[in-house]
Amino acid sequence: MYPSAKQLIIISDMEGASGIFEHNKAALYNGGEQWRDYGRHCLTSDILAVSEAAQACGIDDILLYDAHYAGNAEYNVILAQLPKTVRVFDVLDRCTFWRRIRGQAQQHPFGLITVGQHARNGEPDAYFPHTIQSPPMASLLVNGRSIAEIGSAAYQFCGTPYLANIGCQASMKEATEICPTVHCIPVKDKRTGWQPSPQETFPLIKEGVIQAITQADQKQLIALDGPYAFEMTLTPGFYFQPPQHLSWVGSFADHAAHWLAPSVEIGLELFENVRSCIRRCT
Ligand SMILES: [Zn+2]
Repeated sequence: MYPSAKQLIIISDMEGASGIFEHNKAALYNGGEQWRDYGRHCLTSDILAVSEAAQACGIDDILLYDAHYAGNAEYNVILAQLPKTVRVFDVLDRCTFWRRIRGQAQQHPFGLITVGQHARNGEPDAYFPHTIQSPPMASLLVNGRSIAEIGSAAYQFCGTPYLANIGCQASMKEATEICPTVHCIPVKDKRTGWQPSPQETFPLIKEGVIQAITQADQKQLIALDGPYAFEMTLTPGFYFQPPQHLSWVGSFADHAAHWLAPSVEIGLELFENVRSCIRRCT
């Protein structure tokens, strides 16, 4: 039996965190000096605001996946500053092992909140837009829906209400495509030049998350029916070199790859096979 306490899932990235813009982008470099002295504090402030809001709403089980620079052991969030109600997913070096991550959560979590999110590649007026790794990736779709960083996290939690997305204003597009009822809490907006500090966005995040949790029963569940048809396209300067024998169901063109999978998790594991076929034009 799963414990019945309300469990909140938080998935964080960093390019969409408060207080991080082009002029101080070194704050994003996991392990670097500006990251240590400034960037980590920005993301920690955002996650703390979410945790405090959740606690105020009586949620005392929060599971966090800190996804930025996955593969590096050191957390982008300063764990010692978070309340005891926040646990982190147990994955080696924070690697994106989605099945392991999904397996550690309840079957029916109370909700999903994404934090520090940036827009996908090609989105206008965005801070640090990219799709997993751009270049070489131009786009990644599943069943015609964008599955950049926000999508690849959210679709692991099909059946869970998508409560809120916090990040760059331009990231709200992907989030609302996944779930039109998601509560959008922007912390910066390149189009209008709005660049507030983490201190300024803290109360906005906290208030927004309290609203989102209070209205949880009106939020739609994340949903995507199978089979799952994936498509990856490449930016100029890159092409696919297909393997001699294809061991999965799919096909390649010069700048696009297609593959089919019985689940989103398996499709994203095959994504690594497809990714290994990318070559740089010489
Ligand atoms: Zn990131």
